[in-house]
Amino acid sequence: MTALPAAEVDGRVPRLRQQLSDSGCDALVVTSLSNIRYLTGFTGSAAMLLATPDRLLLTTDGRYKTQSAEQLGAAGVEADIEIGNPAAQQAALGRAAKGCARVGLEAAHVSWALQRTLEQEVFAGAELVATSGVVEALRRVKDAGEVARIEEAARLADEALATVLPMLADGRTEAEIALALDHEMRRLGAAESAFETIVASGPNGAKPHARPSGRPVGRGELVVIDFGATVDGYRSDMTRTFSVGEAPSTGVRMYEVVAASQAAGVAAVAPGVAAAEVDRACRDVIAEAGWAESFLHSTGHGVGIDIHEAPAVAPTSTDTLEEFSVVTVEPGVYLPEHGGVRIEDTVVVTTGGCRPLTAFPKHLTI
Ligand code: ZN
Ligand code: ZN
Repeated sequence: MTALPAAEVDGRVPRLRQQLSDSGCDALVVTSLSNIRYLTGFTGSAAMLLATPDRLLLTTDGRYKTQSAEQLGAAGVEADIEIGNPAAQQAALGRAAKGCARVGLEAAHVSWALQRTLEQEVFAGAELVATSGVVEALRRVKDAGEVARIEEAARLADEALATVLPMLADGRTEAEIALALDHEMRRLGAAESAFETIVASGPNGAKPHARPSGRPVGRGELVVIDFGATVDGYRSDMTRTFSVGEAPSTGVRMYEVVAASQAAGVAAVAPGVAAAEVDRACRDVIAEAGWAESFLHSTGHGVGIDIHEAPAVAPTSTDTLEEFSVVTVEPGVYLPEHGGVRIEDTVVVTTGGCRPLTAFPKHLTI
């Protein structure tokens, strides 16, 4: 694996603090593990993080005593760390937030039960504020280290697909091909797959999120392969559609339309462009071909620590693309009697437009 530039984690909490007052609170309790990882470098499976204007407190349990100190230290993040059972962690959070009148919670990442405990027992006396997307807004614009990790994940995935692709012609099942892709990505250095790998052939391809089955891939069928790798916590996402031998004419037509749609979407990506415009660029091409009703999902999504994150590339999206955002462009056409075609690249928004991070060649026939 190529050497990756260092992640710039230590500047993130200071940027979060600048956002606190705009969010109507003077402290934020971060309960999303992805957001905690982004802010501190901590990768454990249980933690809470409290950021006040002058304090940062990570609470976790004894399993992560050594790991939490190591990871925050490596990231250059200065924080107090409280190790203990849930009651001890909550007591520490309450003490650290003393004097904060308005404590923000991440509305999308707090259970009803936890919200009640925090309100009644931990931050009694403070006003709890429901916040939405505060840390996620920071995550929309990637730094060079983040882009490098996504790009490396994409490179591993491309290499894995090149190795596995000949299996399609051997009559292997969807599940065997998916497993081989996952195995190859791991062998090449990926920590894990970016999400559950999709290999969907024939009629299964008409279901955009089909699970790999025991169905062998047949000749002349459309096969949708949607997958990605994870490198140091960052994910890639790519879809290619293939046919073993010549596809029937409708399949070829579907492929041509989706390829043109995807190219139009990628061409529309640039800083300052409304994400909804990118969606429209893709959708117009498919609508012109008469398949508007068969494009069953939105055009794309942000990618990073999570496989689906901001900004959304959808008809109803209110997001505007910014330089160094990383998004997917993935239109598709799904016809139950013919199967599915989807083509997806992960791209990083650059000054003049965008640069694809996924690079596997686009060709229907193998
Ligand atoms: Zn995908
Ligand atoms: Zn995707």
